[in-house]
Amino acid sequence: MNPHASAAASGPVYLDHAATTPLDPRVFEAMTPYFLERYGNAASRQHALGREAARAVEEARAQVAALLGGDPREIVFTSGATESNNLALKGAVDTAALAKLPRHVITARTEHHAVLDPLQALEDQGTEVTRLDVDPMGHVDLDELATALARGARLVSLMHANNEIGVLHPLAAIGALCREHGALFHTDATQSVGKLPLDVSTLAVDLISLSAHKLYGPKGVGALWLRRKGPRVRCKPLIDGGGHERGLRSGTLNVPGIVGLGAACALRAREMADEAARLATLRDDFESKLFAALHTPNAAVLRNGDPDARLPGLTNLSFAGVDAESLFTRLPEVCASSSSACTSAKSGKSHVLRALGADPARVAGSVRFSLGRTTSAEELTRALDAVLRAVREERGEGPREVCGG
Ligand code: PMP
Repeated sequence: MNPHASAAASGPVYLDHAATTPLDPRVFEAMTPYFLERYGNAASRQHALGREAARAVEEARAQVAALLGGDPREIVFTSGATESNNLALKGAVDTAALAKLPRHVITARTEHHAVLDPLQALEDQGTEVTRLDVDPMGHVDLDELATALARGARLVSLMHANNEIGVLHPLAAIGALCREHGALFHTDATQSVGKLPLDVSTLAVDLISLSAHKLYGPKGVGALWLRRKGPRVRCKPLIDGGGHERGLRSGTLNVPGIVGLGAACALRAREMADEAARLATLRDDFESKLFAALHTPNAAVLRNGDPDARLPGLTNLSFAGVDAESLFTRLPEVCASSSSACTSAKSGKSHVLRALGADPARVAGSVRFSLGRTTSAEELTRALDAVLRAVREERGEGPREVCGG
């Protein structure tokens, strides 16, 4: 099997890697034995098959920890970032270790629903939640964060990379403020893990959520990293049972999925630097060609979010005179997203773009293109042609007349 082969060699150009990524064939190879011959329960330490599964889980734990610069004992395997966020937020806020601080959590309006909704649930039960505004570039104001922290808070939850606009929060500066005020710092790094470096030995981050399927691993598995030292983060489980994962997450471990997450992390650790540079170049080229062709005095193309602090493979653009939902019906050649795949399961338009202050037309005309490991220049040329045609049709411009002289 060609380890670099695209999951889909033909068909539409897939530019929706922020929603999910194709499984890396090398990850699939690593997982397969754990479905077939190595099917032991990782908790069955009394026989060879169980011990083999347990060894594989521990290797994966080390691989995930290594990608983050952490200790394997700091990793808890979960079903994905949604569960990791729930565990981090609901589990940490109510621990005795934080009881001296006010029941107050700080977040931002642009977080994923997998953070906003558990916080809403906590608020309904009496936790105070501060939701910071963002500026038109998608950044929180660190002075406002400091003011909110000064009132006393148990936890700050601010994502690393935004899933809709790719904007990066300054984790080092946020972490330093949290330390100063004695609050824990959770970051939902689902979009950035394996794409950009994240080193817990240099950052004052205490909890990190991630999902395997965003880094070419399988769906339905993820992890929460919890700091063990300086401070030791205490967390209460959401799921009680057999006491797996040091009592933090009971239930028979998903061994093939965990092996896949570990293999994906090991591959990303080796390949992400080169891939980030390649994707940024491809993305910038794609973006500038779209601007050159479609940004006109009467119909603008606008970039959403800070172009200088964002994920390398992602661009979110608003096309004036275009409704993204209707555009997609004219664009079967390209898989892209009108807001995030997760939020579009909910009613209403992007809460992220609205938080940036975008007007309804700008929100309606916004498209997220997210590139990945298998995206090629040739695919982007095909995608560009298709997008140009579809946007012009949508704007009612039609094909250009050729002047016969
Ligand atoms: N957080 C962010 C930033 C995400 O992009 C996603 C997936 N769209 C999630 C959390 C949830 O991940 P999962 O669906 O794998 O639990």
